[in-house]
Amino acid sequence: MKVAQAWAGYIDVTPDAVPVISPADTLRGMFVATGFSGHGFGIGPGAGKLMADIVANGTPLVNPHAFRLARFRDGSKIELDGGF
Ligand SMILES: Cc1cc2nc3c(=O)[nH]c(=O)nc-3n(C[C@H](O)[C@H](O)[C@H](O)COP(=O)(O)OP(=O)(O)OC[C@H]3O[C@@H](n4cnc5c(N)ncnc54)[C@H](O)[C@@H]3O)c2cc1C
Repeated sequence: MKVAQAWAGYIDVTPDAVPVISPADTLRGMFVATGFSGHGFGIGPGAGKLMADIVANGTPLVNPHAFRLARFRDGSKIELDGGF
């Protein structure tokens, strides 16, 4: 058999494979929800709710600490899957 067609593309993976759902704290009013690392369909509804809670200053659905953008520049240890 021959391969009929092939394609390739980027996938949205962060260095620790944990999404960023966070204010961009160096730019007030900018929020980031990305890097779903191959799970963005499945966790999209929860991620959207958490992002909405953060944007609206509501009580967050879950503790958003693990999803903060700043972890990549504040000296935090970056471990695959957040070390879980
Ligand atoms: C092959 C494959 C299989 C997958 N299977 C699953 C699965 O089984 N289950 C699951 O949960 N997840 C799966 N995923 C992951 C899921 O598809 C992604 O996590 C999800 O689509 C990410 O959503 P997003 O909105 O963050 O980003 P995206 O869907 O990538 O959307 C980003 C959008 O921004 C646009 N864009 C980019 N740059 C610019 C720019 N400069 N200006 C304007 N627009 C721009 C892009 O065109 C795109 O439309 C899979 C991914 C791949 C590649």
